[in-house]
Amino acid sequence: MITGGCICGKLSFEIAGSLQKARACHCSKCRKVFSGASSAYAELSPGSNFKWIAGKEHLSTYSTEGEWSVGFCGNCGSTLCGLFRDEVHGLTLGCVDGDPGVEIEMHLFVGSKAPWDHIGGNAPQFIENTDSETTRT
Ligand SMILES: [Zn+2]
Ligand SMILES: [Zn+2]
Repeated sequence: MITGGCICGKLSFEIAGSLQKARACHCSKCRKVFSGASSAYAELSPGSNFKWIAGKEHLSTYSTEGEWSVGFCGNCGSTLCGLFRDEVHGLTLGCVDGDPGVEIEMHLFVGSKAPWDHIGGNAPQFIENTDSETTRT
């Protein structure tokens, strides 16, 4: 069981299942949404069952693009999840308690990373999306 929640503790969730495709996206939008060098995000694996266990009434959403939105706590502002058509699609890894069972396996949009960002580790770095060229630091 994967569990997590926001910093004020009003919102919490659990997942019967697993996460997949953990990525750090360094694009300008993700940097704003995550207030950091990049996103740290993973998708729910097919068949995984996501459930809010407390505070769903505190969930606020902001549409980032089309039918995509980001979900955050309306009380403390912690970013918790990405939603597609109001269904939870994936989680921000920083809000997961303990080990989420995945590691960042790709860096996206490194072509537009912040000038102060230093990317570590061995995960492949893509200039834009996974169909673009890779780069080496
Ligand atoms: Zn909160
Ligand atoms: Zn991005």
